[in-house]
Amino acid sequence: MINFESVQKETVILNPMKNMERKTIASEIRMDPLTGRSARICHFMKLEWEKPDFEKLIAGAGKFCPFCPDKVMKITPCFPEEIILEGRLVSDDMVLFPNLAPYESISAVATLGGRHYIPMTEIGSERIARAFRLAMNFFRRLRDIRHPEAIYHLINWNYMPPSGSSLIHPHLQIFSGSFAPNLMRAELAASKIYMKTNGTNYWDDLVRTETGHGRRFLGKIGRISWFSAYAPLGVAGDVLAVADNVRSTLELTDDDLSDIADGLTRAMAGYDKMGIYSFNMNFFTGAEKDDHTRFHLLFSPRTFFNQALGTPDIGAIQRLYNESVCMAFPEDIAGMLKPDFQSEK
Ligand SMILES: [Zn+2]
Repeated sequence: MINFESVQKETVILNPMKNMERKTIASEIRMDPLTGRSARICHFMKLEWEKPDFEKLIAGAGKFCPFCPDKVMKITPCFPEEIILEGRLVSDDMVLFPNLAPYESISAVATLGGRHYIPMTEIGSERIARAFRLAMNFFRRLRDIRHPEAIYHLINWNYMPPSGSSLIHPHLQIFSGSFAPNLMRAELAASKIYMKTNGTNYWDDLVRTETGHGRRFLGKIGRISWFSAYAPLGVAGDVLAVADNVRSTLELTDDDLSDIADGLTRAMAGYDKMGIYSFNMNFFTGAEKDDHTRFHLLFSPRTFFNQALGTPDIGAIQRLYNESVCMAFPEDIAGMLKPDFQSEK
């Protein structure tokens, strides 16, 4: 039983543009149906941003980039032999190596190839799928050696500086850990309770409900269903993907990885039209045999509110109240993204 709860709000102002006439502005507070986390739909604006001068942004940066082909095999660290015998994992021009600044005991970085800058719409699904496969090889190695941290296998992606990336060169952050991060932990706990209370899997119910009414449904690719999230974390909404019958990252098949990569490139194409050129993407997974959950991911576009000042899209309300703000209705965002999910590639 999925409950899409919301509270409607109204603000009255005297409008200086119209002789101080009374003007009513609507907004909404939405509760995430699983965790109860709230998100504001407010501060409405046209989802349209200016892109920066990319030439200027990337000029010269390749010279000092540790991920460029002339340096990546020389200056990136290696895993100890008990984890990865050969030190680093390599797939053609992609390299996976330990993060110098680890977030976890198992914390890796994988480059998405040798190109220093790849525009968002040129990354392409094949490249993404190949990088995911490289990460999966790493996860399987950890499982095979029965590493105690091989519980939750996560891929995070910060693409371009507005997302928190300090490097232009596209790369994935790859973790395995026994401790689930905050929101993922809350979701896992809530989905366990949901299953106990309702006797069904929350994510299966969500996919059925969202697909059924279709207001936020974007499309289905293989076993992966794509939606505009009901209570998004991002200012321009989030894209949510849920995998049928998959409990944990290691249960994803090769086809699933290709289908996820395909959907991600469609989300990128849609957001590119709004002037977005940066995003975060995170895997959310259960542990092995966690029947109460389903593998899902969030793709969240990121932007600067003021490119020249470097004003980020996260302010006090998000940072310190953990209250997200989305500047358009997720149903309208779905309408903007849907053409890219329905087009032939
Ligand atoms: Zn580079």
